[in-house]
Amino acid sequence: MMKPKSGQEAAVLAAQDAGASVRTYVPGYPITDLAIALGAEISVNEKVALEIALGASATGRRALVVVKQVGMNILADPLVISSTHTIGSGLVIIAGDDLGPKGSQAEMDSRFYGPLAELPMLDPSSPASLHASILEGFTVSEWLRVPVIVRVTASLLSDEGPEIPSRPSRGGPAHFDRDGWDLTMRGKHQRHHDRIVAFAEEASESSTLNRLDVSGNVGIIASGRPAALAQGLGVSLFSIGYSNPLPAKLLRRFIDGHRLILVAEEPEPFIESCYACSPKIKGKLTGHLPRGQLEREDIVRALEGLHAPAQKKPQVYESVAERGYPGVCEGCPFIPLFRALGRIDVPVAGDAGCAIRATRQPYQSVDVVYGLGSSVGVASGFSSKGIALVGDFALAHSGLQGLINAVWQKREVLAVVLKNDVAAMTGGQDAPDLTSLLEALVPTVRLQLPAPEDEVELLLREELNKRGSSAIVALGRCTKQVPSQASPGASLKDP
Ligand code: SF4
Repeated sequence: MMKPKSGQEAAVLAAQDAGASVRTYVPGYPITDLAIALGAEISVNEKVALEIALGASATGRRALVVVKQVGMNILADPLVISSTHTIGSGLVIIAGDDLGPKGSQAEMDSRFYGPLAELPMLDPSSPASLHASILEGFTVSEWLRVPVIVRVTASLLSDEGPEIPSRPSRGGPAHFDRDGWDLTMRGKHQRHHDRIVAFAEEASESSTLNRLDVSGNVGIIASGRPAALAQGLGVSLFSIGYSNPLPAKLLRRFIDGHRLILVAEEPEPFIESCYACSPKIKGKLTGHLPRGQLEREDIVRALEGLHAPAQKKPQVYESVAERGYPGVCEGCPFIPLFRALGRIDVPVAGDAGCAIRATRQPYQSVDVVYGLGSSVGVASGFSSKGIALVGDFALAHSGLQGLINAVWQKREVLAVVLKNDVAAMTGGQDAPDLTSLLEALVPTVRLQLPAPEDEVELLLREELNKRGSSAIVALGRCTKQVPSQASPGASLKDP
C-alpha cells in the first residue's frame, strides 16, 4: 500500500490509526476533498455534525468532525458546552481555514476558538505533524475528556512530505461519566479550570510536536505551516505544536534567550498578541509581516528588516476584476429567475451558494448575503416584504429555522428555494428534499425552470402581493453538478 505523503493522505491515515469509526462533515472549501477521502458522512450543518460525534463519543466510539472555518461558528454552541460537560471516547474536530479566502465569505483564524472554548487546539506545520497532531488529539481528548481541535489550511492539506509510517493508536472505549451531574455548571467550570486546563498546559509544554532549533540571538516563533516555511533560515526556530494552551514556559525561555523575535503565523497575530508588550517581539502587529497567508519570502524579508521599525506600505485591495469571478454558469436553469429578480424593486437576501453568484453583473439580483442559511432570517427583517433566495442545501443547513421564525412571529417573507437537489458549489453532494416540510409551513408553489422570464417575474410579483410568508420552489437541473455526475472533489470557488 502506498504510504501517505500529502497532508490529506496523512489525515486519512491518522483517522485509520486512531480508529475514528464515526466521521461527520459539512462540505466547504478547503475540507471537502479531505472529508470525502475520509469517507465521512455529510450532515445538514456543523452543529449537527458535532452533535452526532458527541453522541458517538458518549457511547464509547472515537469520532472525527471535519468542517470549514465558518462552520466553527455554527458548531460553537455544543463545542463550548462540551468543554465543561466532558465527553466519553476521543473526539477530534478538524477546522479548515480558508486563507486569502477562495471559497468563503470571510477569512477566519479558527485558532481563536481554542481559548474561547477553553479547549486544546493543535496547529500542525507539515503532513507528518498533521498525522501526529490528530493522533495526539485523540490521546489528549481521552485523557482530558474534552474535544480537541486540529487546524488545517488548503496549503497544509496539499503539501507533500516524506512517507509516514502507520502508527495504530486506538485507545479503549470510554463512556460519558455521569458523575459530572453532581456538580453545578459553575462547579463544572471550576473543575475545568482546576484540572483540564492545567493538564492541557502540561500536554502543550511536553508535546513532541514542539520543535526547537537554537542558532544565534534572533529567533522565530512559528505555528502551523509558517513553521515549515521558516526552516533553514540561519536563526533559532521554535515551532510550537499547540496554539492553545500555548507552551508558556518554553516560550518565555525562548524569548528570554534571544535579542529579537519574529512571530510567524497565519492569518492573524494570535500568538504575537499574547507577547506584544515585549519590544523584542515583531510580527504582523508591528508590520514586519503581512496579515493573512505567509510565504517564505515574507519571513526572509521580515528577518532582514527586523532591526528597524517596519515601513508601512500602501495596500491595494484585491478586486473581483483582478482575481476573476466564475459567476452564474452558462446554461444555468435559474438564469430567468436571476434576471426577473433583478427587475423587481424589493430587497433580496441571498445565501452562500449559487445565489451569491447572482449578486454581480449582469444579474445584480441579490442585495445582501450573510452566510449559509441566513437569507430567510435576514429577509424577515427587511422594512418591507422582501425575498429570500435560498439554495436547497442552505435551507436544510439553517435556513428552515428562519422560515419557522417568520411564521411564528408573523413576519412577511417570500422564500424562493433554488432546488437543484445538490450542494452545487461544494461539489454536488446530495441535498435533502424539504418540499413537503415547506408545504406544511407556508403556502408553497412550484416553478419549473427554465421558464420565460416574464412568467417568472409575474409569479414573483403575485407572491409578493400576498399577505404573510410563502415559498416558491424553483426546480432546476444544475448543468454543472447533478447527483449522478457530481465531482466530489470540487470546491466552492467564489471570491
Ligand atoms: S452550479 Fe449549477 S445551479 Fe449553480 S450556477 Fe452553475 S449551473 Fe446554476
